[in-house]
Amino acid sequence: MRALVYHGPKNVAVENVPDARIEKPTDALVRITTTNICGSDLHMYEGRTDVEEGKVLGHENMGEVIEVGDGVDRVKVGDVVVLPFNIGCGFCKNCENGYTGFCLTANPGSAGAAYGYASMGPYSGGQAELLRVPYADWNALVLPEDAREKEKDYVMLSDILPTGYHGTELARVGIGESVVVWGAGPVGLMAAMSAGLRGANQVFVVDRQPDRLRLAETIGATPIDDSAGDAVQQILDATRGEGADKGVEAVGYQAHDHTGEERPGLTVNSLIEAVRPTGRIGVVGVFVPADPNSGDDLAQEGKFGMDFGTFFFKGQTMGTGQANVKQYNRQLRNLIHRDKLNPGLIVSHELGLDEAAEGYRRFDDREDGWTKVLLHP
Ligand code: NAD
Ligand code: ZN
Repeated sequence: MRALVYHGPKNVAVENVPDARIEKPTDALVRITTTNICGSDLHMYEGRTDVEEGKVLGHENMGEVIEVGDGVDRVKVGDVVVLPFNIGCGFCKNCENGYTGFCLTANPGSAGAAYGYASMGPYSGGQAELLRVPYADWNALVLPEDAREKEKDYVMLSDILPTGYHGTELARVGIGESVVVWGAGPVGLMAAMSAGLRGANQVFVVDRQPDRLRLAETIGATPIDDSAGDAVQQILDATRGEGADKGVEAVGYQAHDHTGEERPGLTVNSLIEAVRPTGRIGVVGVFVPADPNSGDDLAQEGKFGMDFGTFFFKGQTMGTGQANVKQYNRQLRNLIHRDKLNPGLIVSHELGLDEAAEGYRRFDDREDGWTKVLLHP
């Protein structure tokens, strides 16, 4: 089959690899119809991870079931399904409690499993013609009859829509509240959409890319351009000096300051300043574990100088982590089906699988207008 393979930093290629197949009775085999490039793929693409050479990438996957193992009886051949990026078993302590992003079975000894991702288990990704789906009855979400017509919307259920929603859940966004989202990438835009869904009264979205800020406005949020002046001050000015009620971090460790210099943690400290005393902050931007041998060196990805004193004095609370997609995807699917949610509006490009390498390059360069890239094998 054709698949997008990782060969090294900024080096990916579509080539022939052995076909994905059923390996266990609980597997299903899916013919991929849409698979997205995610901001999370860029961590691997830019060479920031230990992903192995030869890995097929792709964790935002949707397609048609073409074969099921003997132990699969809910999902049927012919079903159109969307797959949560996290792979759960359904029976471990964490899956039982809804924390499917932290399955203890699918990637033992680590914190969760995913398709086509560094240190998230041995699973191949779906930027390919075929995908093996483990524990298929548990993981596959079956879509209704309008699946094909609304493919651009439904495919967002694999990751960024539930992830954005998770940010607002970690922050416990409630009706009538003000919310500030740091980052207007796909995840931040989905967090802004989710905050609106939960009845937020005003949603601010901070970024500095004009095309993305315009999309935030389309979603009904107030864009805050932090290249036009300190974003924290702009939020304080807009909230009578109090700060927003709640905050969501949707940038991650690759945050830059407005001169373009890398500043991991800058966004977390900005949120502590821009959220009101006793406010709650949800962090869904990715931070990766620090190297245990780094000593006191703060200048690396998982460690940064957090202003814990301000966080403490303001009595704030913070929630973090990978989204447990299965907690939300069914409900969000129903809203898409009823035309109450259209996450596909952020899609900027739809490419054939063979154009994937170019899609990676232009999305990674944050080229103007390259907001969200979908691949159709
Ligand atoms: P992205 O890289 O496309 O978007 C990040 C945005 O942040 C960009 O628009 C960039 O201009 C902006 N930005 C950078 N520094 C900033 C700063 N200091 N202030 C304001 N804006 C700044 O990525 P994405 O696809 O939207 O993903 C965002 C993060 O979410 C990534 O870290 C990704 O890995 C993570 N993610 C987490 C989960 C999860 O389950 N928790 C799932 C998917 C993605
Ligand atoms: Zn993703």
